[in-house]
Amino acid sequence: MLSFAFDNRFVTELPGDPEEGGRRRQVHGACWSRVLPTPVTAPRLLAWSPEVAALLDLPPEAVASAEFAEVFTGNRQVPGMRPYAACYGGHQFGNWAGQLGDGRAINLGEVINRAGQRWDLQLKGAGPTPYARHADGRAVLRSSIREFLCSEAMHHLGVPTTRALSLAATGETVPRDMMYDGNPRHEPGAVVCRVAPSFIRFGNFEIASSRGDHDLLARLVDFTIRRDFPEIAGDDVDEKRGRWFASVCARTARMVAHWTRVGFVHGVMNTDNMSILGLTIDYGPYGWIDNYDPDWTPNTTDEEHRRYRFGQQARICHWNLSRLAEPLAPLFPSEEPLRAGLETFIRVYGEEYRRMMAAKFGFAAPRNDDGELIAEAFDLLRQAEVDMTLFFRALARLDLAAPTLEPLREAFYREDPMRRHEAAFQSWLARYAARARADAEPSEARQSRMNTANPRYVLRNYLAQEAINLAEQGDLSRVHELLRVMRGPYEEQPEYARYAAKRPDWARNQPGCSMLSCSS
Ligand code: AMP
Ligand code: MG
Repeated sequence: MLSFAFDNRFVTELPGDPEEGGRRRQVHGACWSRVLPTPVTAPRLLAWSPEVAALLDLPPEAVASAEFAEVFTGNRQVPGMRPYAACYGGHQFGNWAGQLGDGRAINLGEVINRAGQRWDLQLKGAGPTPYARHADGRAVLRSSIREFLCSEAMHHLGVPTTRALSLAATGETVPRDMMYDGNPRHEPGAVVCRVAPSFIRFGNFEIASSRGDHDLLARLVDFTIRRDFPEIAGDDVDEKRGRWFASVCARTARMVAHWTRVGFVHGVMNTDNMSILGLTIDYGPYGWIDNYDPDWTPNTTDEEHRRYRFGQQARICHWNLSRLAEPLAPLFPSEEPLRAGLETFIRVYGEEYRRMMAAKFGFAAPRNDDGELIAEAFDLLRQAEVDMTLFFRALARLDLAAPTLEPLREAFYREDPMRRHEAAFQSWLARYAARARADAEPSEARQSRMNTANPRYVLRNYLAQEAINLAEQGDLSRVHELLRVMRGPYEEQPEYARYAAKRPDWARNQPGCSMLSCSS
C-alpha cells in the first residue's frame, strides 16, 4: 500500500472555490478549485526517476506495484490526498491573458518526507479542470516524454527545476494538430507526475491583483513566504515582503544564468510559466542550442518575433519580474523594495554570468577584462556554426603551450564557415591560451573546472525525438537509456559517446528536432 505523510498547506491555509468539479468557469476569491483526476482506461508505468522516488521515500517495489500506476495516472487516490487545480493568470507573449490556471495539471497534495522536506505532487495530463477552457485536459506521449526527461536532465546538470517522478501511459488516444495545419493525429496519451517544493507561479499573484482582490493577494504573498521561504523570518511584515521579492529576483537570475551556461531555451517564458522559487517549469516547446545562435528559438509560434530566443532570456526574466512587481506594489509602503529587487536581479545575473563564464572557459576566477575575449568567442561560434556543447568540452583539451584548432574541429557543422574563420579562431586561441596560462595552475585544475561547468551530454532535440519515435512504436528502451545518460551529464561515459554527437543533418529542419509547436 502506498502511503505518504500529507500536510496540504495550500488548500488548508488559502481560500478555495466553493464549487467542486471541472465545470469551466472564472474563479474569483479563491486560489484553488477542488477537482479529481479523470480516470483512464489502461494505466501503465513507462519510466520513473529513482532519485525522485527516493525523495518521496518510495522503494523500487512500491514503484513497481499496480497501485503506483493507478495512483500516478489519477485513477485512484491514497488517503490524505486532496486533489485541486490552482487559479492563476499570466502575460503571454507580452500581453495580459486573464485567467489561465491549471488546465490539465492536478495537484495531489504536499508530502513531507522522512527528511522533513516538502514535496508537492502534481499530475500533468490528468483530465480537465475548471481552468481547461476549450481544451481536453490531456497530454500526449511525445510532450510527456520531453517533460519527463528534461526535468531530470536539468536537475543533474545543476539547473534549478521541477522534477519528474513518473511517466505513465493512459491507454487512451488524444487528438492533436501538431503543426496547426488542420490535420489532427490521434496520439497516445500520457501522464507525468511532477514534483516540486511549490508550484506557485508569478501568475498566481497576478490573477488576484487583476481582480482587485488585495486581501487574497496579501494572503497569498504571506503564505508563500511562510511555506516556501522559511529562511525569511521575523515580525516586520513589510521587511519580510521586501526580502522575499529580492529573493525571488535572485533565484530567477540564478536560474536563467544556468540556462545560458548549458544552452537551454525555454521557449514559452510567459509569466504563468515562471516559478516563484526560480525553478525551470513547464517544459513545452523548449530546445537546446546545437550550433551556437543567440537568436534561435525552437518555438514555431514565436518564429516571427523571437521574443523568447536564447539570447534574450535574461531580459525576459527581468520583464516578467517587473510584471510581478506591479501587482505587488499596493502591498508595499513604497516602491523602493520592488525597485531594489529588480536591481538585485541585474546584479545577481551579472555575478552569476561572470562566475559561470569563467568556469566554462576554465579561468580560476572572473577577471574584469575577460569580457571581450568571451564575447569574441561567442561571436566566432555563431559565425562559424560551431556546436556549443562540443566546443567547450574540446576547449578543455586544448594544449595551452601549443594551441591549435585540431581538438575543436569536430565541433564545426560545416566546412566552409570553418575554413573562412580559421584564422580568426587561431588568433583567438592564442590569446585564450595566454589568458589561461596567466592563472598559473596545472592543466588538470583547469580541465576539471571546465568539465564540471560544461556538460558532455545535453538532451539534444533530436535525441528526444528519436526516443519519442521509438516509444510511439512501443519501445521505451531509448527513453530509459537517455535517462541513464542524462543522470551523469558531466561524465565521459564512453559507452554512450553517440549521445554526445552533434545534431545530424536530417534533424536540421525537422519538426520535433529544431521546430516545436505548443501543441502538446
Ligand atoms: P502552457 O502553454 O502549457 O503553459 O499552457 C497555458 C495554459 O493552457 C495553462 O493554463 C494550461 O493549463 C492550459 N492548457 C494547455 N494545454 C491544455 C490542455 N490540453 N487541456 C487543458 N488545459 C490546457
Ligand atoms: Mg504553463
